[in-house]
Amino acid sequence: MFRPSTALAASTLSSLRPLTAASSRRIPAAARLAAIGQHLVHRPFSASATMSEKTSQGHEVVKPPNTGWKGEIPSKKGGSEAGYLLKPPYVWRSDEFEVKYTAKCWCGKLEFEYHGDPIDAKHCHCTQCQRLHGAPFQWAALFHKTSVRLAESCDPIYLDFFSTQEGHSDHSVPCKISCRNCRSPMADEGRNMVMAYPSSFRFKDGHVPSTFAPTAHIFYGERVMDVDDDVPKWSGHKESSELMPHAPKEEGDRTFGKDKTHKKDKLDLQQQQQNGDGEGGGGEDARAKRPRNGA
Ligand SMILES: [Zn+2]
Ligand SMILES: [Zn+2]
Repeated sequence: MFRPSTALAASTLSSLRPLTAASSRRIPAAARLAAIGQHLVHRPFSASATMSEKTSQGHEVVKPPNTGWKGEIPSKKGGSEAGYLLKPPYVWRSDEFEVKYTAKCWCGKLEFEYHGDPIDAKHCHCTQCQRLHGAPFQWAALFHKTSVRLAESCDPIYLDFFSTQEGHSDHSVPCKISCRNCRSPMADEGRNMVMAYPSSFRFKDGHVPSTFAPTAHIFYGERVMDVDDDVPKWSGHKESSELMPHAPKEEGDRTFGKDKTHKKDKLDLQQQQQNGDGEGGGGEDARAKRPRNGA
Protein backbone atom coordinates (compact mmCIF):
# COMPACT_ATOMS: atom_id res chain seq x y z
CA MET A 1 0.00 0.00 0.00
CA PHE A 2 1.29 3.41 -0.86
CA ARG A 3 0.90 6.34 1.40
CA PRO A 4 1.62 9.75 -0.10
CA SER A 5 4.91 10.17 1.72
CA THR A 6 6.26 6.75 0.85
CA ALA A 7 5.05 7.18 -2.69
CA LEU A 8 7.03 10.33 -3.07
CA ALA A 9 10.12 8.82 -1.55
CA ALA A 10 9.78 5.73 -3.68
CA SER A 11 9.46 7.75 -6.83
CA THR A 12 12.75 9.45 -6.16
CA LEU A 13 14.55 6.16 -5.77
CA SER A 14 14.78 5.36 -9.41
CA SER A 15 17.18 8.22 -9.97
CA LEU A 16 19.60 7.15 -7.27
CA ARG A 17 22.89 5.80 -8.39
CA PRO A 18 24.67 4.28 -6.61
CA LEU A 19 21.81 3.02 -4.57
CA THR A 20 22.32 3.54 -0.92
CA ALA A 21 19.10 4.79 0.61
CA ALA A 22 16.97 2.42 2.58
CA SER A 23 13.62 1.55 1.25
CA SER A 24 10.83 3.73 2.41
CA ARG A 25 8.33 1.03 1.78
CA ARG A 26 8.34 -0.80 5.06
CA ILE A 27 6.62 -4.05 5.70
CA PRO A 28 4.01 -4.33 8.40
CA ALA A 29 4.10 -7.24 10.83
CA ALA A 30 4.43 -10.44 8.88
CA ALA A 31 1.97 -12.11 11.15
CA ARG A 32 -0.85 -10.00 9.84
CA LEU A 33 -3.31 -12.12 7.91
CA ALA A 34 -0.84 -14.97 7.98
CA ALA A 35 -3.59 -17.44 8.61
CA ILE A 36 -4.57 -17.89 5.00
CA GLY A 37 -3.36 -21.46 4.46
CA GLN A 38 0.34 -21.88 3.82
CA HIS A 39 -0.48 -25.16 2.17
CA LEU A 40 -2.37 -23.25 -0.49
CA VAL A 41 0.85 -21.91 -1.76
CA HIS A 42 2.05 -23.08 -5.06
CA ARG A 43 5.79 -23.10 -4.65
CA PRO A 44 7.46 -22.40 -7.93
CA PHE A 45 10.87 -22.57 -6.29
CA SER A 46 10.12 -25.32 -3.87
CA ALA A 47 10.88 -24.44 -0.29
CA SER A 48 10.74 -28.18 0.29
CA ALA A 49 13.69 -28.94 -1.96
CA THR A 50 15.76 -30.26 0.88
CA MET A 51 18.08 -33.01 -0.36
CA SER A 52 20.22 -31.89 -3.23
CA GLU A 53 19.52 -28.28 -3.98
CA LYS A 54 16.89 -28.48 -6.65
CA THR A 55 14.07 -26.23 -7.62
CA SER A 56 10.62 -27.74 -7.78
CA GLN A 57 11.05 -27.51 -11.53
CA GLY A 58 13.63 -30.26 -11.17
CA HIS A 59 16.63 -28.02 -11.83
CA GLU A 60 19.86 -28.06 -9.96
CA VAL A 61 20.31 -24.76 -8.22
CA VAL A 62 23.00 -23.27 -10.42
CA LYS A 63 25.21 -20.30 -9.85
CA PRO A 64 23.69 -17.15 -11.26
CA PRO A 65 25.54 -15.35 -14.07
CA ASN A 66 27.62 -12.35 -13.04
CA THR A 67 25.32 -9.38 -13.39
CA GLY A 68 27.32 -7.22 -11.02
CA TRP A 69 25.30 -7.86 -7.88
CA LYS A 70 27.76 -8.36 -5.03
CA GLY A 71 25.54 -9.02 -2.04
CA GLU A 72 23.38 -11.89 -0.91
CA ILE A 73 20.31 -12.67 -2.93
CA PRO A 74 17.71 -10.30 -1.51
CA SER A 75 14.93 -11.83 0.60
CA LYS A 76 16.56 -15.21 0.06
CA LYS A 77 14.95 -16.63 3.15
CA GLY A 78 11.53 -15.30 2.26
CA GLY A 79 9.62 -12.38 3.65
CA SER A 80 11.08 -8.95 3.02
CA GLU A 81 14.09 -6.93 4.03
CA ALA A 82 15.00 -3.29 4.46
CA GLY A 83 15.73 -1.53 1.23
CA TYR A 84 14.33 -4.29 -0.93
CA LEU A 85 13.26 -1.79 -3.59
CA LEU A 86 16.92 -0.92 -4.16
CA LYS A 87 18.01 -4.50 -4.75
CA PRO A 88 17.30 -7.18 -7.34
CA PRO A 89 14.81 -7.61 -8.90
CA TYR A 90 13.86 -3.92 -8.58
CA VAL A 91 15.78 -0.63 -8.74
CA TRP A 92 19.48 -1.39 -9.08
CA ARG A 93 22.20 -0.84 -11.64
CA SER A 94 25.55 -2.34 -12.55
CA ASP A 95 27.90 -2.29 -15.52
CA GLU A 96 27.82 -6.06 -15.90
CA PHE A 97 24.05 -6.27 -16.39
CA GLU A 98 23.33 -6.74 -20.09
CA VAL A 99 19.71 -6.32 -21.05
CA LYS A 100 18.64 -9.13 -23.33
CA TYR A 101 14.88 -8.86 -22.86
CA THR A 102 12.43 -6.23 -21.69
CA ALA A 103 8.92 -6.79 -20.42
CA LYS A 104 6.24 -4.14 -20.14
CA CYS A 105 2.88 -4.18 -18.46
CA TRP A 106 -0.13 -3.35 -20.60
CA CYS A 107 -0.17 0.37 -19.74
CA GLY A 108 3.62 0.72 -19.86
CA LYS A 109 4.14 2.07 -16.32
CA LEU A 110 6.17 -1.00 -15.36
CA GLU A 111 9.08 -2.26 -17.36
CA PHE A 112 11.43 -5.04 -16.30
CA GLU A 113 14.78 -5.86 -17.83
CA TYR A 114 16.28 -9.34 -18.02
CA HIS A 115 19.90 -10.42 -18.36
CA GLY A 116 20.40 -13.57 -20.42
CA ASP A 117 17.98 -16.31 -21.28
CA PRO A 118 15.53 -18.05 -18.98
CA ILE A 119 16.68 -21.20 -17.24
CA ASP A 120 13.40 -22.93 -17.98
CA ALA A 121 9.83 -22.21 -18.96
CA LYS A 122 6.58 -24.01 -18.19
CA HIS A 123 2.83 -23.91 -18.26
CA CYS A 124 1.11 -24.24 -14.91
CA HIS A 125 -2.48 -25.43 -14.91
CA CYS A 126 -3.10 -25.20 -11.16
CA THR A 127 -6.34 -23.57 -10.07
CA GLN A 128 -4.42 -20.85 -8.22
CA CYS A 129 -2.77 -19.75 -11.46
CA GLN A 130 -6.12 -19.94 -13.23
CA ARG A 131 -7.72 -17.65 -10.70
CA LEU A 132 -4.87 -15.20 -10.32
CA HIS A 133 -4.33 -14.87 -14.05
CA GLY A 134 -7.92 -15.12 -15.22
CA ALA A 135 -6.63 -17.57 -17.78
CA PRO A 136 -6.85 -21.31 -18.47
CA PHE A 137 -3.19 -21.70 -17.51
CA GLN A 138 -0.01 -19.79 -16.77
CA TRP A 139 3.09 -19.37 -18.91
CA ALA A 140 6.19 -18.61 -16.88
CA ALA A 141 9.94 -18.36 -17.50
CA LEU A 142 12.51 -18.79 -14.78
CA PHE A 143 15.35 -16.27 -14.24
CA HIS A 144 17.84 -15.74 -11.44
CA LYS A 145 16.68 -12.87 -9.27
CA THR A 146 19.95 -11.06 -9.88
CA SER A 147 19.28 -11.20 -13.62
CA VAL A 148 16.24 -8.94 -13.24
CA ARG A 149 15.73 -5.23 -12.60
CA LEU A 150 13.27 -2.43 -13.23
CA ALA A 151 14.02 -0.19 -16.19
CA GLU A 152 15.53 3.13 -15.16
CA SER A 153 12.62 5.10 -16.58
CA CYS A 154 10.23 3.18 -14.45
CA ASP A 155 8.74 4.52 -11.21
CA PRO A 156 8.51 1.79 -8.53
CA ILE A 157 5.36 3.45 -7.22
CA TYR A 158 3.59 1.33 -9.83
CA LEU A 159 4.74 -1.93 -8.26
CA ASP A 160 2.03 -3.95 -6.61
CA PHE A 161 2.61 -7.16 -4.69
CA PHE A 162 0.52 -10.01 -3.47
CA SER A 163 1.53 -12.76 -1.09
CA THR A 164 -0.59 -15.85 -1.59
CA GLN A 165 0.86 -17.29 1.63
CA GLU A 166 0.01 -14.35 3.80
CA GLY A 167 -2.93 -12.99 1.88
CA HIS A 168 -1.83 -9.33 1.80
CA SER A 169 -0.41 -6.93 -0.73
CA ASP A 170 2.80 -5.87 1.02
CA HIS A 171 6.13 -7.11 -0.26
CA SER A 172 6.79 -10.54 1.22
CA VAL A 173 8.64 -13.22 -0.76
CA PRO A 174 7.35 -15.33 -2.39
CA CYS A 175 5.01 -12.80 -3.93
CA LYS A 176 3.35 -11.84 -7.15
CA ILE A 177 4.31 -8.64 -8.92
CA SER A 178 1.79 -6.70 -10.96
CA CYS A 179 1.20 -3.19 -12.24
CA ARG A 180 -0.63 -1.00 -9.80
CA ASN A 181 -2.21 0.92 -12.67
CA CYS A 182 -3.31 -1.66 -15.26
CA ARG A 183 -3.07 -4.77 -13.03
CA SER A 184 -1.09 -6.79 -15.56
CA PRO A 185 0.69 -9.68 -13.86
CA MET A 186 4.43 -9.33 -14.48
CA ALA A 187 6.27 -11.99 -12.47
CA ASP A 188 6.53 -13.91 -9.23
CA GLU A 189 9.46 -13.07 -6.95
CA GLY A 190 10.68 -16.26 -5.32
CA ARG A 191 13.47 -16.70 -2.82
CA ASN A 192 16.22 -17.17 -5.41
CA MET A 193 14.46 -16.79 -8.70
CA VAL A 194 11.95 -14.72 -10.59
CA MET A 195 9.20 -16.42 -12.55
CA ALA A 196 8.54 -13.98 -15.34
CA TYR A 197 5.39 -14.04 -17.45
CA PRO A 198 6.58 -13.97 -21.05
CA SER A 199 3.25 -12.55 -22.26
CA SER A 200 4.60 -9.15 -21.15
CA PHE A 201 7.93 -9.54 -22.99
CA ARG A 202 8.72 -7.50 -26.08
CA PHE A 203 10.38 -10.01 -28.35
CA LYS A 204 12.32 -8.92 -31.37
CA ASP A 205 10.13 -9.10 -34.48
CA GLY A 206 7.43 -10.63 -32.30
CA HIS A 207 9.21 -13.94 -32.43
CA VAL A 208 9.27 -15.99 -29.22
CA PRO A 209 12.78 -17.44 -28.70
CA SER A 210 13.03 -21.18 -28.21
CA THR A 211 14.40 -20.68 -24.68
CA PHE A 212 10.91 -19.52 -23.69
CA ALA A 213 9.27 -22.71 -24.96
CA PRO A 214 7.75 -24.62 -22.04
CA THR A 215 9.49 -27.86 -21.12
CA ALA A 216 6.58 -29.03 -18.99
CA HIS A 217 2.92 -28.67 -18.25
CA ILE A 218 2.58 -28.85 -14.49
CA PHE A 219 -0.50 -29.45 -12.34
CA TYR A 220 -2.06 -30.80 -15.52
CA GLY A 221 -4.55 -32.74 -13.41
CA GLU A 222 -6.20 -29.41 -12.56
CA ARG A 223 -6.51 -28.21 -16.14
CA VAL A 224 -9.59 -26.79 -17.80
CA MET A 225 -8.47 -27.72 -21.30
CA ASP A 226 -6.39 -30.41 -22.95
CA VAL A 227 -3.20 -29.37 -24.69
CA ASP A 228 -2.24 -31.68 -27.51
CA ASP A 229 1.49 -31.09 -27.78
CA ASP A 230 4.51 -33.29 -27.09
CA VAL A 231 5.58 -31.42 -23.95
CA PRO A 232 5.49 -33.69 -20.84
CA LYS A 233 2.45 -33.24 -18.63
CA TRP A 234 2.80 -33.72 -14.90
CA SER A 235 -0.06 -34.13 -12.45
CA GLY A 236 1.83 -31.89 -10.00
CA HIS A 237 5.37 -30.52 -10.04
CA LYS A 238 7.78 -31.44 -12.80
CA GLU A 239 9.65 -34.68 -12.18
CA SER A 240 8.09 -35.19 -8.79
CA SER A 241 4.60 -36.25 -9.81
CA GLU A 242 2.94 -38.57 -12.31
CA LEU A 243 3.17 -38.11 -16.04
CA MET A 244 -0.25 -37.79 -17.66
CA PRO A 245 -1.64 -38.29 -21.16
CA HIS A 246 -2.70 -35.09 -22.89
CA ALA A 247 -6.35 -36.21 -22.85
CA PRO A 248 -8.20 -38.68 -20.63
CA LYS A 249 -8.51 -42.24 -21.95
CA GLU A 250 -12.22 -42.41 -21.14
CA GLU A 251 -14.59 -39.62 -21.95
CA GLY A 252 -16.02 -40.04 -18.44
CA ASP A 253 -12.65 -39.09 -16.95
CA ARG A 254 -12.76 -35.73 -18.59
CA THR A 255 -12.76 -32.90 -16.12
CA PHE A 256 -13.01 -29.72 -18.19
CA GLY A 257 -13.81 -27.80 -15.11
CA LYS A 258 -16.74 -29.87 -13.89
CA ASP A 259 -14.71 -31.44 -11.10
CA LYS A 260 -12.77 -28.36 -10.20
CA THR A 261 -12.47 -27.79 -6.50
CA HIS A 262 -10.34 -24.86 -5.53
CA LYS A 263 -7.66 -25.77 -3.05
CA LYS A 264 -8.89 -23.22 -0.57
CA ASP A 265 -12.46 -24.52 -0.77
CA LYS A 266 -11.16 -28.03 -0.22
CA LEU A 267 -9.14 -26.98 2.80
CA ASP A 268 -12.10 -25.12 4.26
CA LEU A 269 -14.13 -28.29 3.86
CA GLN A 270 -11.42 -30.42 5.49
CA GLN A 271 -11.24 -27.95 8.34
CA GLN A 272 -15.00 -28.13 8.84
CA GLN A 273 -14.87 -31.91 8.87
CA GLN A 274 -12.03 -31.95 11.38
CA ASN A 275 -13.99 -29.61 13.60
CA GLY A 276 -16.89 -32.05 13.41
CA ASP A 277 -19.23 -29.43 12.05
CA GLY A 278 -18.90 -30.51 8.49
CA GLU A 279 -22.17 -32.35 7.94
CA GLY A 280 -21.55 -31.20 4.45
CA GLY A 281 -24.64 -32.58 2.78
CA GLY A 282 -24.72 -34.81 -0.24
CA GLY A 283 -23.24 -32.24 -2.53
CA GLU A 284 -19.95 -31.89 -0.74
CA ASP A 285 -19.65 -35.59 0.05
CA ALA A 286 -20.29 -36.46 -3.52
CA ARG A 287 -17.74 -33.93 -4.62
CA ALA A 288 -15.12 -35.27 -2.23
CA LYS A 289 -15.63 -38.83 -3.48
CA ARG A 290 -15.43 -37.99 -7.11
CA PRO A 291 -12.12 -39.22 -8.51
CA ARG A 292 -9.79 -36.48 -9.51
CA ASN A 293 -8.01 -36.81 -12.75
CA GLY A 294 -4.48 -37.98 -12.14
CA ALA A 295 -4.85 -37.93 -8.37
ZN1 LIG B 1 0.52 -1.14 -16.22
ZN1 LIG C 1 0.19 -22.69 -10.83
